[in-house]
Amino acid sequence: MRNETRVQIQSKHKKKFLNGYPLLFKEALANPEKLKEEGAILNLVDHNGEFIGKGYYGRQNKGYGWVLTQDASESIDEAFFTNKIQKALHYRKSFFEDPSTTAFRVVNGEGDGLGGITIDRFNDYYLINWYSEGAYSFKNEVVNSLKTLVNFKGIYEKKRFDAKGQYVDDDDFVAGERGEFPLIVKENGVDFAVYLNEGAMVGVFLDQRPVRKIIRDKYAKGKSVLNTFSYTGAFSVFAALGGAVHTTSVDLANRSLNKTIEQFSVNGIDYEAQNILVMDVFKYFKYAVKKNLKFDMVILDPPSFARSKKHTFSAAKDYKNLLKETIAITEDKGVIVASTNYSGYDMKKFKGFVDQAFKESGGKYKLLEEYSLPEDFRTTKEFREGNYLKVVFIEKIKG
Ligand code: SAH
Repeated sequence: MRNETRVQIQSKHKKKFLNGYPLLFKEALANPEKLKEEGAILNLVDHNGEFIGKGYYGRQNKGYGWVLTQDASESIDEAFFTNKIQKALHYRKSFFEDPSTTAFRVVNGEGDGLGGITIDRFNDYYLINWYSEGAYSFKNEVVNSLKTLVNFKGIYEKKRFDAKGQYVDDDDFVAGERGEFPLIVKENGVDFAVYLNEGAMVGVFLDQRPVRKIIRDKYAKGKSVLNTFSYTGAFSVFAALGGAVHTTSVDLANRSLNKTIEQFSVNGIDYEAQNILVMDVFKYFKYAVKKNLKFDMVILDPPSFARSKKHTFSAAKDYKNLLKETIAITEDKGVIVASTNYSGYDMKKFKGFVDQAFKESGGKYKLLEEYSLPEDFRTTKEFREGNYLKVVFIEKIKG
């Protein structure tokens, strides 16, 4: 039997949880230091001992665990997980019916009532991400549920819960047959080479799907495109397929070169006609200014935090400057696609950086469109910060 612990919620936060807030953050708990056993069921009560909800203890960078139900009579057992996952699969029905996209998220943590756990589909393979040891303690329940609910060839997992919330390297294979990698998945008709056995990042970030599509369908034709922090070059591939005259992909990681060559190649694009650079983006900006290079479209999708030899970038502090450096190498009437997955600020504040950057650069701009998480990355109105993605398309207008 799983341990159950009674946990008192601080009075001033009670209403928040009664309204469906799912994250057990430290200040909300009367005695957070008493919690020890990862995966313990937490019976949440108010100061009078009245029931508020049931959750589990699982430390991750975001907090101490997640509320799982507001129904006192519901037990957290395999049937509970089966029910949640079944509902989550049903919510993605249209994705399962679309053969042009075979990679998408099927369970998005708290958005599907299962904080700390996500599940992605890649063809006939499923990938479970566990964000805490507590979440991982539900492995049997989750894996058994998945096995009964989907047709699958194999199930893989990523444990993202060492002390820093980082990926723990281990054998990621869970059940079924081992895959042969790369697995070639489809996204809106485009191929991606995906590796479920090579660490936390599998080759593609699924949450940018609509952004890639619109770049291909509406923005790329006839354009010169610079893709910064390009990783495997997913944006570059979509731009090239959309008729970009030329793409330049810049990423600091050595692996990015071969990975980007591979993504172009699986789509029949001659990678030698594209520019793929293993380089610090900030160094590239200086090089571009010196060489007077300008682009019709620049894509910015940095990590929330990155440190290179010469540079530290934090989305919290440095996004405005990143935009200013970008504005300097964007053609008039060119488009900047600015993206961040940093959850510490919202779209309004992000657009504020855009505004400041253009003001300080002495130029004008027009916001063309904006994106947040796509439908499969389901979020709830009770937990708005779960919708971390912010993407804006900005046209640079001659100042
Ligand atoms: N835009 C990518 C995902 C970016 S992941 C996509 O759509 O798939 C973040 C990437 O930024 C990583 O590949 C990392 O190697 C790279 N990176 C981090 N700091 C960098 C820097 N200073 N210069 C260039 N690349 C950097």
